[in-house]
Amino acid sequence: MVNPKTWARVNSPWFIHFNSGACNGCDIEIVALFTPKYDVERFGIKLEASPRHADVLIVSGCVTQQCSERLLRVYEQMPEPKFVVAVGACACSGGIFEGNYNVVGGADKVVPVTAYIPGCSPRPEAIIDGVVKLLNTLKQPKSSSKEAKASVASSCESTDVMTMMEEKSIAQEE
Ligand code: SF4
Repeated sequence: MVNPKTWARVNSPWFIHFNSGACNGCDIEIVALFTPKYDVERFGIKLEASPRHADVLIVSGCVTQQCSERLLRVYEQMPEPKFVVAVGACACSGGIFEGNYNVVGGADKVVPVTAYIPGCSPRPEAIIDGVVKLLNTLKQPKSSSKEAKASVASSCESTDVMTMMEEKSIAQEE
């Protein structure tokens, strides 16, 4: 039987967006998700302002020294289980800003990242694809979570969206 909390989370995940140092390119694509053209509310996705009510943290941009502590604070305020999606090359690895004196690196230098969506900037379709794959893995029963993870990784390899689930996030859900 499906856990009611998992059912609710998969059918209506609440997102919070944090710009940790993006040039605004990724942010515009994220905003486009919530416009009538892409309309992610059809998946039950809601943009939430408070981290205390959010399930998924969407991070855009490389993490600057100035923002690293704030990013961690937002993450720590979210209730368990929580997931982090890195949107764009900068959030995935630091991108073109990697090595800069005031840049810590990708989002995973500060918080555990559940899914990586590369691109500069990724198109809204790619972000939707990555998020839907993340939500589909949450539906998997406990016994098959590792197989689900493998299946997500292999299905993503054939697209330009690479979603890499981490053991820790799956364990949180279990
Ligand atoms: S990935 Fe590209 S569009 Fe996104 S924040 Fe970095 S430079 Fe800007």
